Amino acid sequence: IIKATCVDKHFGAFHALKSVSANFYEGQVTAIIGPSGSGKSTFLRTLNRLETHDSGTIEVDGIELNDDLKNLDAIRREVGMVFQSFNLFSHLSILQNVTLAPMRVRKMPKAQAEAKALALLERVGLKNQAHKYPVQLSGGQQQRVAIARALAMDPKVLLFDEPTSALDPEMVNEVLAVMRELAHTGITMLVVTHEMGFAREVADRVIFFDHGVILEDTTPAEFFANPTHERAKAFLSQVR
Ligand code: ATP
Ligand code: MG
Repeated sequence: IIKATCVDKHFGAFHALKSVSANFYEGQVTAIIGPSGSGKSTFLRTLNRLETHDSGTIEVDGIELNDDLKNLDAIRREVGMVFQSFNLFSHLSILQNVTLAPMRVRKMPKAQAEAKALALLERVGLKNQAHKYPVQLSGGQQQRVAIARALAMDPKVLLFDEPTSALDPEMVNEVLAVMRELAHTGITMLVVTHEMGFAREVADRVIFFDHGVILEDTTPAEFFANPTHERAKAFLSQVR
């Protein structure tokens, strides 16, 4: 569903992505791991054009990601993103956070958007918090709202950039539990994470980034048992 071919990205003189190629298939859950600064976030962000790539091609569901705004619009509807810092709208209630995009972008009637939002909030265990505001929720709860908000657009692909890194340890599991449940629904997920447990137990595939290149692209079983590259071995010895 995503085809990235020879994707390059520079920030000034710095070469952040070096001819990165990877295809992602429908329903696949991929954990993207690697050291800080290796290009994980940059790669994820090029996939929905939060960053533009300098060269190479990116296709999502057969649509090429380029300067054409019509293509971008179509792709943004299919690709949801969940960030480390939740990024909820603080002046909107939880319910409004989840109904906003379907009403504005998909022109969904309010009653329908709210019914859908409540169903999604129930799925992430927050139906009874719908009328609160983000500040009244814990970090873990806010992140679950952010997941519900992304799901409200019925994306085919969900991108997660370190969704649990900003959370206190006791809240990490409640978010991982929601993600684990999602992984079994057939949605395509790309998850940048430091949670090796998630990568090992939930992901179908592990991609290891280092210095702007994909060094390993394999199954979790293979990656954790026999990392091929020294850099991957060193990384694993630090995080385990
Ligand atoms: P982390 O685990 O710390 O989140 P990462 O693998 O996600 O790291 P990226 O955020 O993709 O790393 O950054 C890759 C490199 O590109 C880093 O060296 C970073 O400093 C640089 N970089 C990222 N965004 C920008 C930017 N907007 N301007 C300049 N340099 C950037
Ligand atoms: Mg990052």
